[in-house]
Amino acid sequence: MAVTGRSIVKMDVDELLNLLNKALADEWLAYYQYWIGAKVVKGPMKDAVIAELELHATEELTHAQLLVTRIVQLGGTPVLSPGEWTKLTNCGYDAPEDPFVAVILDQNIKGEQCAIRVYNKLLDITRESDPITFNIILQILTDEVEHEEDLTALKEDFDLMIEHRK
Ligand code: FE
Ligand code: FE
Ligand code: MG
Repeated sequence: MAVTGRSIVKMDVDELLNLLNKALADEWLAYYQYWIGAKVVKGPMKDAVIAELELHATEELTHAQLLVTRIVQLGGTPVLSPGEWTKLTNCGYDAPEDPFVAVILDQNIKGEQCAIRVYNKLLDITRESDPITFNIILQILTDEVEHEEDLTALKEDFDLMIEHRK
């Protein structure tokens, strides 16, 4: 544990660790939602959608990596069992039971919008009290905003295509 590194955090470290573990649970669920979505998705523009879902899956895993590194640095215990993910999650999990592209895109857009709200709140909490965590969260939030944009752009293309078929 980074003893001095932990001592410079100007907020309740256990409370911060709890928030970071909740975000870690979100990232694993987001990873799986993208990963499994890419396997089952069906419909028009499937190839473009699969490429984006697969890329986002790897980026969610990178977020999990960033979070777990910080949790360990602060002397915390990262979530050890997948069973805890659904208990700790802020944003939940949407199983892609309907494999249609538009439905999968909407589910993941909803997930990204939740992630943006969660990380934006974490930025507010850490801005003055923990610049190291702030910097990590800022990196992650930048990706989540990009994810929302990527998926909504695909959804717009899909809607345009449907519109012009009429
Ligand atoms: Fe993420
Ligand atoms: Fe994301
Ligand atoms: Mg992308």
